[in-house]
Amino acid sequence: MNRVLSAETVSPELEAGGILTVDLAALTANWQLLGRRSLPAEVAAVVKADAYGCGLEPVASALLRAGCKTFFVASIGEGRRLRSIAPEAAIYVLNGFPPGTGPAFAECRLQPVIGNMAEMVEWDAFRTSAGWPGEWAVHVDTGMNRLGLSVAEASALAPRLERQHHGITLVMSHLVAAEIADHPLNAQQIEAFREIRRLFRGVTASLANSSGIFLGPAAQFDLVRPGVALYGANPTPGANPMQPVVELKARVVQVRTIQRDQTVGYDATWTARRTSRIAVVGIGYADGYLRAASAADGVAGGEAVVAGQRCPIAGRISMDLLALDVTEIGSGVRRGDLVTLLGDGIGVDDLAAFGSTIAYEVLTSLGRRYHRVYRTG
Ligand SMILES: *Cc1c(COP(=O)(O)O)cnc(C)c1O
Repeated sequence: MNRVLSAETVSPELEAGGILTVDLAALTANWQLLGRRSLPAEVAAVVKADAYGCGLEPVASALLRAGCKTFFVASIGEGRRLRSIAPEAAIYVLNGFPPGTGPAFAECRLQPVIGNMAEMVEWDAFRTSAGWPGEWAVHVDTGMNRLGLSVAEASALAPRLERQHHGITLVMSHLVAAEIADHPLNAQQIEAFREIRRLFRGVTASLANSSGIFLGPAAQFDLVRPGVALYGANPTPGANPMQPVVELKARVVQVRTIQRDQTVGYDATWTARRTSRIAVVGIGYADGYLRAASAADGVAGGEAVVAGQRCPIAGRISMDLLALDVTEIGSGVRRGDLVTLLGDGIGVDDLAAFGSTIAYEVLTSLGRRYHRVYRTG
């Protein structure tokens, strides 16, 4: 028997280039904070795109334990996964009712968010032919011009509410620019939605996403639909009231010294201005660390926390690696150490800014090959 092969196994933390920790206690606290901000409205949870990259099952399980009863996903596949762990929850499918998918909605008791007349006609026909009183949401477009019935179409629908078994459990619309608190469209959409809601008396009404909640009570109606703020992104124009949820650490593959005027990385875009220490870290754009956060001469890129200090990225981010200028740390960083790319004061919004994008994209890009840790307390 080979002594080496029979040795104890290596921990997954040691094997992985990066370790992603999702703090489910912080996520729950964020959901509760949004609920308090929205009282007396119900607070749902948007868990599309694998719960914004954080993991649908662990995220939804934590929110179910906290008392969340209503969830929004984008697709049937996401709805099916959620239904298998949430037998009682209301699950709305935001992307509506694709042709021929009635049996999937019935099997998983999913509620389509109907966003145009063709969908509604097919949905009606399915409910009738299947003899199944499927419930559903009406999406009314108040300015996004993406999904939703026109206000006129929605008005024509309203008399259905007198019929029995109409199945409409939610009337909703979506804000175009809620994160820009003083954008004139906010007031226009709130006003338009107030009219629509009058037509759908007795049906739960929902307008606000994360940022919409912070527009105040006029935007909150009966149910709010936060997504990104649950995961720690800042839904406000000011200081972030949410707790950070995602932490990303990655391992130093090697540390090397380079001479002044040498370059680092592809295309030689970054030049050392002094004798420099470079820590090469084992994650890259294939892990969702945005390549747009690369650094070049005269252009700052992303930052990481190394031994308690902020250090800048040096050069282009590669597929599986990135380089940090750790000259200031001296001998304080060594092969095998962990550096922090998200956390220790670097939030998802900061990482997004490094790459000229938004926290939504940072979160939904989070890589598949990290070792994932779910912290519950
Ligand atoms: C994604 C989405 C939300 C959640 O938006 P956040 O900005 O992430 O809070 C709410 N409603 C609809 C229709 C969505 O598509």
